[in-house]
Amino acid sequence: MFGYDAFRGQQQEIIEHVIAGGDALVLMPTGGGKSLCYQIPALVRPGTAVVVSPLIALMQDQVDALTELGVQAGFVNSTLDFDTRRVIEARFAAGELDLLYLAPEALASQSTLRLLERGRIALFAIDEAHCVSQWGHDFRPDYLNLNLLHERWPDVPRVALTATATTATHREIATRLGLGEARHFVSSFDRPNIQYRIVAKQDPRRQLLDLLRTEHRGDAGIVYCLSRNSVEKIAEFLKENGIPALPYHAGLDADLRATNQSRFLREDGLVMVATIAFGMGIDKPDVRFVAHLDLPKSVEGYYQETGRAGRDGLPSTAWLAYGLQDVVQQRKLIEGSEGDAAHRRNLGGHLDAMLALCETVECRRVQLLAYFGEQSAPCGNCDTCLAPPESWDGTVAAQKLLSTVFRLHRERNQKFGAGQCIDILLGKKTDKVVQWHHDELTVFGIGADLREAEWRAVIRQLLAQGLLAVEGDYGTLVLTDASGEVLGRRRQVMLRREPDRPVSPSKAARAAKSRADAPDLSPEAAALFERLRAWRAATAKEQSVPAYVIFHDATLRQIAAEAPRTLPALATVNGVGENKLAKFGQQILDTIADATP
Ligand code: ADP
Ligand code: ZN
Repeated sequence: MFGYDAFRGQQQEIIEHVIAGGDALVLMPTGGGKSLCYQIPALVRPGTAVVVSPLIALMQDQVDALTELGVQAGFVNSTLDFDTRRVIEARFAAGELDLLYLAPEALASQSTLRLLERGRIALFAIDEAHCVSQWGHDFRPDYLNLNLLHERWPDVPRVALTATATTATHREIATRLGLGEARHFVSSFDRPNIQYRIVAKQDPRRQLLDLLRTEHRGDAGIVYCLSRNSVEKIAEFLKENGIPALPYHAGLDADLRATNQSRFLREDGLVMVATIAFGMGIDKPDVRFVAHLDLPKSVEGYYQETGRAGRDGLPSTAWLAYGLQDVVQQRKLIEGSEGDAAHRRNLGGHLDAMLALCETVECRRVQLLAYFGEQSAPCGNCDTCLAPPESWDGTVAAQKLLSTVFRLHRERNQKFGAGQCIDILLGKKTDKVVQWHHDELTVFGIGADLREAEWRAVIRQLLAQGLLAVEGDYGTLVLTDASGEVLGRRRQVMLRREPDRPVSPSKAARAAKSRADAPDLSPEAAALFERLRAWRAATAKEQSVPAYVIFHDATLRQIAAEAPRTLPALATVNGVGENKLAKFGQQILDTIADATP
C-alpha cells in the first residue's frame, strides 16, 4: 500500500505492539516515520483509528495523501460544511473509514463523543503529544482533556507520538496522558541529512541572500523571524531580490494565512518567511532549508523548527544567524515577561541552553543530541566540524570589558550599552564619548588590540556565560555576581573565535550529500528528473493536491536514476505503492519513454 520495502527504525516493533492492543508512547524525530506507526495498525485492527491532531488546516492534505494511497480516511472539524460532515459521520458509523482525524477541541463537545459511540474504534492516535506539556513551547489546553478517551474507552489502545523529547517533556506526556503503563519507544533523534550551521550575525539580510543564492536556488524553505514586522520586511526584501517569498504570522488575516500556507505546500520552490506560528504539523517533505534570523528561545524549539527541513532524507540545511543583539533582546523579553520568578527561571534556563549551543566549539550535533540525552561522536556535517573554530583565553579581554562597566558605575554612577563600552575600550572620541567625558576614564583605549566585531563577540559570550547581564529598555550592561570572580582573577574565561573562513558552499554540499540517501544523478537522469517533476506539477494541479502527495522528490529521483521500463520494475521503487502504480504507473513509463528514446 505505501510502496516501501522495509520498516524503518522501530516502526515494526511499534506497529506490532499497537496491533496487539498495547498502549505506546513514541518519541521519534521529525521525518522518522511516525505516521506509519498508527496508520498500519489502523488498517489491520477492526474499526476506525481516531487520530487527534492539533492542526485542522492540514487535515485536508493528510486525508488527500491517504486517499491517494487507497486508504479510507476522513476528518471532522469546524471547517466542514454540514453536508460533508454528515457524509463522513455516516461513513464512520457504517465502519467504512480506516482513519478519522479530529481536532483536540472537538473532543470537548458532546456531539463528537456521541458520534464516536456510534462506531467501532480501532485505536486512538495522539499526534504532537508534547502539546500536553505545560512547560513546553506548544502547550494546548485542549490536550489536557485527552485523558477522557481512556476513561470512556478503556479497552481501546492508545498511541501518543511526538518529536519533542527532553526527559522532562517525555515524563510530563506520560503522566498527563496517563501512559505510565504504556510501552515507551525512544528513537535516536539524530537527523543526519540536516547540516547545522550557526553564523555570527553581521548583515543578516545579505547573509541570508547569499545562502539562498549560492546553495538553495529554487529550493523550498522556511525563514523564521521573531516579530511580525521583520517577517513582512524580510519577505519583501527577498521578493525584491527575485526570490519568491510569502509572509506568515498571526497578525495576517486568516484567509491570507491559509492561502500562503497552501501555496507553500502546493507550489515548488517557495520560501515561507514566518514567525514560529508557522510550521507545526507541516509535513512537506522537500523543505530544503530552515533559516533563523533571530535566536530561538529554546533548544527544543530550535530542533523542532529546523527538523522541518529534509523529511525526505535528502540533504538539507539548518542555518542560524546570531549576534549580540539577540542575547540582549532575549534577556530583555524574559525580564519583562509575565509570570512568576519560577517561570522566568525556566525561560532563562531554556535560553542558556540555546546560547551554549551557539557558542560551542564542539560539534553542534553532539551538543544537540546530548541535550536530548543522547551520546554521539563528531558528525562531519555541521559548521564546527567543517570549519573548526578556535577557543582562546579571553580572560584579559573579559577583565577589560568588565572593568569598563565597573568604572562607569562606580566612578560615574552610569550605565551604558555595548556600543558605548566598545567605543571607550577602542579609545574612540565619538561625540557621545566626549560629551560624557569618557575619554578621561582610565580604561579609555585599553582595548585597542581587538577589533569592534571582536569586542561584540566578547560581550555576547560574556552575556551567554552569565558573566555580564543586561538591564532595562536600553539594554545597558551590568555586572553579575560571577563578574567579580573574573575581575578578581579567580576565574578563567574561554571564548570562541570565529573561523577565519566560514564553511565553503562546495564543502558544505559534499558533506551534506555524504550523509543523505541521495545518489548523484547523471546528466540524463537529472534531465529526466526535471521532466518527472513537470509531470508531477501538472498532475498535482489537476487534482488540486500538493505535489508531494503524488510522489516525493526522493521517489522521483530514484525513478530518474533507474529509468524503469515496465510496471513491475517501477513497483520496486521506494514510495510506489499499489494504488499509485495503478493510477500513475503508465504515465510515468510514458514520460520515461518520451525522455529517453
Ligand atoms: P514524522 O511524522 O515522524 O515526521 P512521517 O510519518 O511524515 O514522519 O514520515 C517521514 C517520511 O518518511 C515520509 O516521507 C514517509 O513517506 C517516509 N517513510 C516513512 N516510513 C518509511 C519506510 N518504512 N520506508 C521508506 N520511507 C518511509
Ligand atoms: Zn558536527
